[in-house]
Amino acid sequence: MKPKEIFDVSIIGGGPAGLFSTFYSGCREMKVKLIEYHSVLGGKLNVYPEKLVWDVGGVVPTPAHQLVDHLVRQANTFQPEIVLDTKVTSISKDEVGIFTVHTQTGEEHYSKAVILAVGGGILQPTRLDIEGAERFEVTNLHYTVKSLAQFKGKRVLISGGGNSAIDWANELETIAAKVYLTYRKDLLKGHEAEIAKLQKSSVQCYLNTKIEKLIASPNHETIQQVVLSDENLTETHSIDVDEVIINHGFERERELVENSPIPIEMASPRTVAGNSKGETSVAGLFAAGDILEHDGKLRLIAGAFTDGATAVNHAKSYIEPDASNRGIVSTHNEMFKVKNKEIFRTMQSNK
Ligand SMILES: Cc1cc2nc3c(=O)[nH]c(=O)nc-3n(C[C@H](O)[C@H](O)[C@H](O)COP(=O)(O)OP(=O)(O)OC[C@H]3O[C@@H](n4cnc5c(N)ncnc54)[C@H](O)[C@@H]3O)c2cc1C
Repeated sequence: MKPKEIFDVSIIGGGPAGLFSTFYSGCREMKVKLIEYHSVLGGKLNVYPEKLVWDVGGVVPTPAHQLVDHLVRQANTFQPEIVLDTKVTSISKDEVGIFTVHTQTGEEHYSKAVILAVGGGILQPTRLDIEGAERFEVTNLHYTVKSLAQFKGKRVLISGGGNSAIDWANELETIAAKVYLTYRKDLLKGHEAEIAKLQKSSVQCYLNTKIEKLIASPNHETIQQVVLSDENLTETHSIDVDEVIINHGFERERELVENSPIPIEMASPRTVAGNSKGETSVAGLFAAGDILEHDGKLRLIAGAFTDGATAVNHAKSYIEPDASNRGIVSTHNEMFKVKNKEIFRTMQSNK
């Protein structure tokens, strides 16, 4: 039997907190493994890839997908092991203090410390409840807007009445041929200013209606027409469409903590109780990002980065009690010397 490979730290979740923790673990010379449920990294940033992010220090307004690219590049600096498409189902700890990370596939991962960076859990968009709708997901049925350009000059129907649906309706109105919005209630739920903008725009709103039927094109590949109806099916509208966007919110899966046979204290049903060092109620189990709750918590991408570095520093001290609980700043860290030379050389040759 192959001996267990024990890492210094397992990081669960590949959003901003997990990605920055991965990089920072490398800076602290820790052997690190990052485990993510989805096939792509980036966490919630993948929910709003085309939106501009303004509030990360030192970063000029940047689309979220670009921030993900940079985070992933940074996380890979020290060649961590990255495991994708893997759902962590529970975490246990043995009598000598080694953590086992259990996964849905039955594969186990071992480490001396664990950083929980699972955000609000595994997010899945709430799917349209119409039989056979999933076959259009490869063509013109969307749950996120990955590229605005895709909707240029098109007839777009958006279903939903919350912030995302209203934001996209307002944004797409400027580039699409026509935008329609259907919402099952009579009052939209978004920010007042965005609702006011929508009401003044050319977006055609159908309130108190929902998608009743999708009519496929003759080759059955795309949705060609959508039938909307009110609750009693007394009034219907048939709309010719090129693209359909569904913004019905998200379902979250977060059984990981409750399935784990270690006493992880919760601060709320959505968050783990911790402190400003990222420590949780279980020695060696740290938390970072949206999942962590403590006094003065900053629930932003910038806060996830701070949480990540802090959790790594304290995980380092936990594993090696003599190690400093602070890393050396990157400008003075000898480990970047060779990499810096390469970067300066490339900068010179690009001049
Ligand atoms: C629409 C929207 C807009 C936002 N805009 C901004 C903004 O402009 N500026 C800003 O600072 N913040 C913004 N935020 C908040 C920001 O996105 C979050 O604070 C940030 O993503 C938190 O990062 P995280 O790494 O803690 O969690 P997440 O980004 O949620 O990442 C968690 C990761 O863990 C994975 N995971 C969860 N459970 C498991 C499991 N059991 N096994 C394996 N993997 C698992 C998930 O798949 C996910 O990839 C916005 C959020 C939303 C929803």
